[in-house]
Amino acid sequence: MKQIQFSFEINKKIPDALGRAGVIHTPHGDIQTPAFMVVGTYGKVRLLSASQFHNIGAQGMISNGFHLSQIADEIDGAGGLYSYSGYNCPTITDSGGFQVMSLGSGLGKVVSMDKRDIAKEQFKAENKKRLARVSEEGVYFKRSEDSDEELITPEYSMEFQHKVGGDIIMAFDELTSIGDSKEYNEEALNRTYKWGLRCLEKHEKLSFDRRDKPYQALYGVLQGAHYQDLREKAAHDLGALGFDGYGLGGAFEKEHLPDILFWCNSILPEDKPRHLLGLSKPDDIFVGVENGCDTFDCVAPTREARHAKVYTLDGDINLRNAKFKNDFMPLFEGCQCPTCKSNHTREEIRGLLKNEGAVKTEKQMISDRLLGMELITTHNVFFIVNLTNQIRQSILDGNYFNFRDEWLSRYYH
Ligand SMILES: [Zn+2]
Repeated sequence: MKQIQFSFEINKKIPDALGRAGVIHTPHGDIQTPAFMVVGTYGKVRLLSASQFHNIGAQGMISNGFHLSQIADEIDGAGGLYSYSGYNCPTITDSGGFQVMSLGSGLGKVVSMDKRDIAKEQFKAENKKRLARVSEEGVYFKRSEDSDEELITPEYSMEFQHKVGGDIIMAFDELTSIGDSKEYNEEALNRTYKWGLRCLEKHEKLSFDRRDKPYQALYGVLQGAHYQDLREKAAHDLGALGFDGYGLGGAFEKEHLPDILFWCNSILPEDKPRHLLGLSKPDDIFVGVENGCDTFDCVAPTREARHAKVYTLDGDINLRNAKFKNDFMPLFEGCQCPTCKSNHTREEIRGLLKNEGAVKTEKQMISDRLLGMELITTHNVFFIVNLTNQIRQSILDGNYFNFRDEWLSRYYH
């Protein structure tokens, strides 16, 4: 077996809470936690170049293992995701479980939802044919209604994640839908446990076969929806299996998030890092941190940037709003991101997105719009990365709760 070049150290804990500041050591560098991992679905972050990625202090990227599976050999040949991406940072891939299960299930891309969103998602689910079905062997799925059925198994997930070469890879799990019964969740949880064992076995074999490659850490993924007994069972069972770390996943209502994380993380081994999958609203990050999560990811900062939503300490703004016409302020006064430091104004970026004013060719309009989105993407990702950095510092300074209360009361007024 190759040498394990992966470890986690805790620097300081939040008093009377599960939260901690630490460092995850990977073969491709350290991640100072709590940390936000930027989403680069296809191995690149949309509208964020490698140099901007480093300028804003991003520490790592999470990519979609399922989407990359189709070019896994190419990535392997390029030396893994670290080199292929050009970002040269620690990387994570997910197992594909989330993607195949959300095909047509109406789950969309949002994991934790409020009640209104859930009703919407359920309506969509009922009106859309489900394209995935689960068996003990794995998940059968179709990429579209007309395409052939394919099978993804825990072993196959390990194979493509090893080829893609992320520093942290995820065990294949079954994501249940928000409408599934407790009985179904229990059945799915048992399956996820058995799949976890199969992932560990395959991972061990692949780590041996590919011992000339850098070590990849395997995280077990906890499901169990919002049921305390199921979440605790998942934490006990998977916690005993010796994974390198843990991913916390599932579909549930946002109000259950603090409890779910507390149930899981108070049982999971303390010395293993934990990744909260797919959540990065600022309030979710605070809840995640104080309930023992170390790393975070979410498409929101980049996706919302493409819809002109700008994050600021006083709450989010939408640049499409007419009130930002003739507003010559930066996206946020005092922001240290490359966009704001280069004196780009709200008026200017709004103009790029809206194509107002001078007559432009279609080509100019597209390139302007992309530039506008790029400037906001840089700002939004910096905002979230910087927030997690500040949270880390507040833990180290023994000042976490004061920092949290001040920050949240300003952001949410
Ligand atoms: Zn900025």
